[in-house]
Amino acid sequence: MRTWRWSLPIKVIIGENALKEVPSVLALLGAKNILVVTDEIVFEIVGKHLIEDLTRQRIKSHTVFVRNSSVQEYERIAAKALDLNVEATIGLGGGRSIDAAKYASYKTGKKFVSIPTSISHDGVASPTVSLKKPDKYPLSIMAKAPDAVIVDLNVIIKAPKRLLASGFADILGKIISTKDAMLAYNLGEEVSLTAIKLAETAANLLVEHVSEISGFGKKGVEILAEAAIMCGMATSINGNTQPVSGSEHLFSHALDIVSVGKKSLHGEQVGIGTILMAPLHRVSWRMIRRLLKKVNAPVTAEDIGATEEEVIKALTLAHKIRKRITILGSTGLTREAAERLAMLTKVIKPSK
Ligand SMILES: [Zn+2]
Repeated sequence: MRTWRWSLPIKVIIGENALKEVPSVLALLGAKNILVVTDEIVFEIVGKHLIEDLTRQRIKSHTVFVRNSSVQEYERIAAKALDLNVEATIGLGGGRSIDAAKYASYKTGKKFVSIPTSISHDGVASPTVSLKKPDKYPLSIMAKAPDAVIVDLNVIIKAPKRLLASGFADILGKIISTKDAMLAYNLGEEVSLTAIKLAETAANLLVEHVSEISGFGKKGVEILAEAAIMCGMATSINGNTQPVSGSEHLFSHALDIVSVGKKSLHGEQVGIGTILMAPLHRVSWRMIRRLLKKVNAPVTAEDIGATEEEVIKALTLAHKIRKRITILGSTGLTREAAERLAMLTKVIKPSK
């Protein structure tokens, strides 16, 4: 039997003006010397004010800008955190800033506070750091779960709608990943049923409240943030991404490998992957497509700037991406099956 170790945030704050609570959260974590990991744009809009606020509260803060998402860059930031002897790193911004801060905390053993300025994927509260190997294969490191997550809704509603729609699509994908995880569970793998249920609940929230979410107003982004945080917790509880990353993610990773000049966002690709895998799990692909369209997320190869050939290739390659039980099995899809599936779900146009 496996021993389960849940590492969950001790504080999650979601609300308007939640940024005002950063000093009290840092006090709770016992952090008086901190490193804010962010980028120039977010620093101008949000970071400057946050640091002024922290200084007023006698919290010493340093700032570092993340330049890219390479291991070397993340190592540079971790070394800086160590150099400055900070007690916490704050990831302020999008996925890259949050991942870099998470990595630095993991390497230095210090506290980590996640402050997303958008919800473009499910990583805002997850313990994993996503990296790409030189061959473009995905590498996800179990770093550490955030000690606190602070989501300021006044900030999130200003995020580009395209990013929020991408986050919606990434979380909607849990309809498929949880079914893949259940399949693995039924085949005898040790997967946490609680983690599966949590991820399922996150996806169901989106299905049931799509109308409130679609305009990405305050209520909408609140629901989206809650769902994203639940997915992060599901990963922490399971100790890996299995409940939140199934065949729909394998398709997206495969597309990263086969596509030349990537133009789409992670969540957008996962959304297409979700449509594609739906028939294999006897889920209505029409429903998935309708939900994605409602938030203006892409639903076809053309929408994400991929060619039909790339989609078919990615489908036949998906099962080889990582060793994980999914509906694709160990042999995957043949070219004919892939083509049929992509046409059936309208991801590519029917052949002339
Ligand atoms: Zn994802």
